[in-house]
Amino acid sequence: MIEQFDVLIGGACKQVEKWTNREKPFKIIQFPAHFFYIKHSKKGHILIDTGYSDYFFKETKTFPYSLYRKITPLSFSKHESAKHQLERLGVKASDVRYIFITHFHGDHIAGLKDFPNAIFICSKKAYESVKNLVGLKAVRNGFIPGFLPKDFLDRVKFLEEGPTYQEKVKNSWRLAKPGEFVFDVFGDGSLLSVDLSGHANGQMGVYLSYRNRNIWLIADAAWDSDGYRKNSMPTRLGRLVLNNYKEFKRSLLHIHDFAEKNQDVWIVPSHCREVEDQWKKMFS
Ligand SMILES: [Zn+2]
Repeated sequence: MIEQFDVLIGGACKQVEKWTNREKPFKIIQFPAHFFYIKHSKKGHILIDTGYSDYFFKETKTFPYSLYRKITPLSFSKHESAKHQLERLGVKASDVRYIFITHFHGDHIAGLKDFPNAIFICSKKAYESVKNLVGLKAVRNGFIPGFLPKDFLDRVKFLEEGPTYQEKVKNSWRLAKPGEFVFDVFGDGSLLSVDLSGHANGQMGVYLSYRNRNIWLIADAAWDSDGYRKNSMPTRLGRLVLNNYKEFKRSLLHIHDFAEKNQDVWIVPSHCREVEDQWKKMFS
């Protein structure tokens, strides 16, 4: 069902590594903004997030949105946009049919406007928590309202209004946190989605299988792979950007436990620097 799965990088931002994981050194490093391309046999071209885009510079020119790029200094050039990278893969932006939005932080949605025909898929919870945010309040939540296309509401499908997936819960296998749903994005079991709130409210993870490999894209529920492997928390300063620290801890522990018991599943944090090499090793 999933015919192609590509890991792409749509720019990077600089940040102090220690803030994201207290066991890491106090060093400024580049955090790649990964996004993902999927070709589904029936649903066509799909993106999971978009990374940065030219709109980032346009929309963060003036105060208070300019604060966003001061807080997370950016390294991005035109050819890194999702639109350009898809063109190199032979996919026209106008042919992308779906964009799954894990959450509404700028580095995940800056490219939405480049895809005029895409249907957006996200959690209602995530959208509801940003839809009225403007100015400083928006920036504080990592959200830039100008990244959303004007017709966003006409084109969005909320996970909560679609089908759910009956998880066969075996001792070690539980994708959703206890008491929560697994959403079946297309109703065919090919893309499953679970709530991993904390980093952002309603932040979703996406689970899929590609070439006999089970893959769980966890977005920013951990900043790097060591984060979920060791269940290690950000520092106090890093916590400031979290929407809900308690929820973040709960989601991270859930992923950590899952990873321990299901070592065959490749778990992918969106900003982890190991991801590209892991992907190349697995699939090329
Ligand atoms: Zn984020």
